[in-house]
Amino acid sequence: MGEAPSCPRCRTDDYLIFEEFVPARQAEHSTDLIPASTSYTCSECGTFNAHAVPASWRPPQWFWYS
Ligand SMILES: [Zn+2]
Repeated sequence: MGEAPSCPRCRTDDYLIFEEFVPARQAEHSTDLIPASTSYTCSECGTFNAHAVPASWRPPQWFWYS
């Protein structure tokens, strides 16, 4: 399981701009679940980060486009 996003330098999620979010999904030909993941940049210090996140986590103000 991943951790909720936060800037390691600023130690807050206040300035994060989320660039990508992939929900947890089933692996092909397997019962394994691939964890949700996200990538983001901190608008305060410019740090880029990308990693797995908890299954229940969603980016703030995230909207699903269909
Ligand atoms: Zn930062």
